[in-house]
Amino acid sequence: MTSAPNARTLPLREQPLVGECLDSWLEALARRNGISVSVLLPAFGWKAPPSAARLSLAVPPGILRRAEGQARLPAGRLDTAVLDPYLPLGPVRRDGSRYCPQCLAASDGRWMLSWRLPWTFACTVHGTVLLDDCPACGRPPRRNLSWAGLNPAGTCPAPAGEGTRCEASLAAVPAERASSALLAAQQWISALLASAASGHGEAARDLGDCRLPRAGCCATPPPGASPCSAPRPARPGSPGSPSGSPPAPSRRPAPC
Ligand SMILES: [Zn+2]
Ligand SMILES: [Zn+2]
Repeated sequence: MTSAPNARTLPLREQPLVGECLDSWLEALARRNGISVSVLLPAFGWKAPPSAARLSLAVPPGILRRAEGQARLPAGRLDTAVLDPYLPLGPVRRDGSRYCPQCLAASDGRWMLSWRLPWTFACTVHGTVLLDDCPACGRPPRRNLSWAGLNPAGTCPAPAGEGTRCEASLAAVPAERASSALLAAQQWISALLASAASGHGEAARDLGDCRLPRAGCCATPPPGASPCSAPRPARPGSPGSPSGSPPAPSRRPAPC
């Protein structure tokens, strides 16, 4: 699609981070311009969708191409920031996002696409279990983005009453340490995700074999066993945490 005749290059731009979700990049771009995401969208000829989930899923390709053109990004760059390539693998999270507080702190509040995938439950960079909710308002972050861009980076933009926002600092929330077994399982699954997103059928089949509950799985795979047969990780703050030996790296776990 060619850009609309009045589609001007944005004077203030932001580069999307590797692995960043589209709605997070939109928020960073809106923040740089001192406006909310909902005010930014019409600049791309994008009528605000009915839910925040549609800011990273089923976005019309013409909108993506126009946004790339106005933000001076390579054509197709934003195709890696949406959830659509993962839909053939199973359901993705449409209502909010998990998060790693330390990743948010290190990136000035940018949100990763993988946190929306049911197969992502731990941060292998910081060795922690991902969190599901804002501890202040109890809502899943990213469910409501109408204020996003106007709130401080890394804070919860959920409405908290008439004209006020939650604004809890999600980058400062303590997270539980993940066991070595949990991190090994996450690394195995993340490698499968990368292969599956590139169109490798075997990886997609293996992921399809993993029947995951809402908050993930694969806590304590015994050596040689499928991570997907293991129980779910403990929620942060709950007693006890998964432990055990990671699966042998060279051995492909059996289907769940
Ligand atoms: Zn992290
Ligand atoms: Zn909140």
